[in-house]
Amino acid sequence: MVEPQNIDLAITGAHILTIDRDMTEYKQGTVYISGNRIVWIGPDDQQPAGFLIRDKIDATGKILMPTFFNGHNHATMSIFKGLGNDLSLDSWLNDFIWPAEHKLVNPETVYLGTMLSAIEMVRSGTSIFSDMYFFEDQVARACEDIGMRGIIGEAVFDFPSPSRATPQESLQYIRELNEQFKDHPLINVAVAVHAPYTCSPDIIKLSKELSDELNIPVNIHLCETLAEIAMIAERYQKTPVQYLYDLGFLSSRAVAHHSVHLTPEDIKMLKDTGTSVVTLPNSNMKLASGACAVSKLMSAGITVALGTDGPASNNNQSVIRELQQLARLERVTNLDPSVLPAPELVRIATINGAKAYHLDDEIGSLECGKKADIQIINPDQPHWYPLFDPYTCIAYAMHSEDVETVIIDGKIVMRNRVLVNIDEQRVLRQMKKRISMINRH
Ligand SMILES: [Zn+2]
Repeated sequence: MVEPQNIDLAITGAHILTIDRDMTEYKQGTVYISGNRIVWIGPDDQQPAGFLIRDKIDATGKILMPTFFNGHNHATMSIFKGLGNDLSLDSWLNDFIWPAEHKLVNPETVYLGTMLSAIEMVRSGTSIFSDMYFFEDQVARACEDIGMRGIIGEAVFDFPSPSRATPQESLQYIRELNEQFKDHPLINVAVAVHAPYTCSPDIIKLSKELSDELNIPVNIHLCETLAEIAMIAERYQKTPVQYLYDLGFLSSRAVAHHSVHLTPEDIKMLKDTGTSVVTLPNSNMKLASGACAVSKLMSAGITVALGTDGPASNNNQSVIRELQQLARLERVTNLDPSVLPAPELVRIATINGAKAYHLDDEIGSLECGKKADIQIINPDQPHWYPLFDPYTCIAYAMHSEDVETVIIDGKIVMRNRVLVNIDEQRVLRQMKKRISMINRH
């Protein structure tokens, strides 16, 4: 264990859920943070003494746990929240979202839309999200301003995007982003190849090659709807998973979002290649896409993480709400109340996201030496009482607003429900101005 010298922040008295391998808990515990790392964690009565402590939080009676990991998002799309409801994915994208994006998406709207989503995420205990959109340098700018982490994935598909004229230009831009944000404390870069039905085999192969060359993750929407399954079957006489497998795309760097409609052979290919899955239950329910067989995939040995998807197809950015919906969806689709027990759900929302993106050595659980990404939750409220088991309360009863304080990379980003780096009301005022523009669309 690292011996702390100067402690930048000490949090004491909390019921700590570490979410480490053994799911260690400290009923009254302390965390010492030095710089951006946890340098000591353990029971209050064993805390090392005699160090200079710069800032202290008395978290007596509070729950302290890792922040949530939002495994898939299009954060900018908060600007389209409420446009074109009650439609199939196909019609929603073709008739509303894609035309609106080409008119309205520019660096400033990406920044503003991401800020709005990022505020909602931090306020519900999320410290990191994996994004797939355009002008991703502006997503990074929003993350830096608010103080949260982002995995920025510039979207690639066959047709021109709002930010780049060709897929080759988008891939080149990802290369530049990777150079720009190399060694950045908060930003990671990923390739984000949109989907098998929007990308030619060549573009999928080039995306995979870039991910290999830069050693960064590659995201893809996969097996989201039955319409996609039919389209790929018609074009290639294969399932989308088989199609990607035959292109050599699937690997431990690949993260497949949705993965709703899978055959047993598909599941085996995902497992054998080390591909991770991000499930997005609210989006799948809202768009009537189906339900990902999460416990079946996990039993097969696939890492399954959790995400919100974009704000326009959810319409919420809270991972707490997402994990609560996942719990219910998984039970009702299996007609089995024993699937995905509460501690497993909390792991899916924290450490599994870090595993899917190969960040689990640094974040996803509270352990000595790891980066300090921590949320402090206030359970002193009727919906938590009598608090027999904190995991059950998180999985079924917790509200997003119960998150009181959020620490990211060792720094307090929200203290007692106040975001410390930005003026939240100012962002809301700017968004109101934009609404009139969207209404004119
Ligand atoms: Zn998506």
